[in-house]
Order: sequence, then structure tokens, then C-alpha cells
Amino acid sequence: MGKIYIESLSGRVFSCRLCGTHLASNVELISKSFHSRQGKAYLFNEVVNISEGPKEERLMTTGLHEVADIHCKNCMQLCGWRYVMAHEDNQKYKEGKYILERSKMMDLYEGNFASASEASTILAGSDMDEACS
Ligand SMILES: [Zn+2]
Repeated sequence: MGKIYIESLSGRVFSCRLCGTHLASNVELISKSFHSRQGKAYLFNEVVNISEGPKEERLMTTGLHEVADIHCKNCMQLCGWRYVMAHEDNQKYKEGKYILERSKMMDLYEGNFASASEASTILAGSDMDEACS
């Protein structure tokens, strides 16, 4: 039985809503303009303390992608997915990046996400994904 090593982040941190494990830092946040079946979702450069499921092809509103679900390493909650490969050239920028679903996280800095800056980000955003079509 191996002990689970949990990495700790500093600064503004997004954490697992169920167990509080740190999942991503605000400095790795790329976009808040994504959507999943569960609602809002955020795109990150890098996340920590996750375990990755098997890769699979998934059809999203922006085309066919190869993705892998990611789970909180501590409580195993499904919290988003990683883009393994994008088939459309204009979606290649997402390869290797991570989606964390807003509903699966808490924001330790603000306590909630209902800020004015977030609302303007969503209005400006054009890149919407569905977890499943
Ligand atoms: Zn967790």
C-alpha cells in the first residue's frame, strides 16, 4: 500500500470541493470560458494531485478530441479531463491542457466565483465545449 503524496500549492488555489485537496493554481489558469455538461469549466496549463483515466475519443462542440478524465487523487472525485489530442487544427492549442469543472472545485481565495470579472470573461469567451454531445 503506497501512501498518497499530495502536493501543496500557494497563492490563489482551486481545490477539490469534496476533500479540499489543491488541484490548480490561479497562475496556471488559461480560460474561464469553457463549459461542460455540469456547467462552467476552466482551462488550466497544469494541475496537481490528479489521477488520469483511460484515453478516449469524445465529440465536443468544437470537434473530435482525444481526452482522458481526471480524478482527484485523494477522494477520486471526477473533476474534469485532459485534452490529449485535438483533431481540428484550430483546437490544437488545447492539447496537453486540463479542464477542471467549476462545480467540482472551490476557490480558496474568493470563497465564491460570482465576481464581476468572471461575468465579463464569460461574455467575451467564444470557446465553448460540451463534455458530451
Ligand atoms: Zn478530492
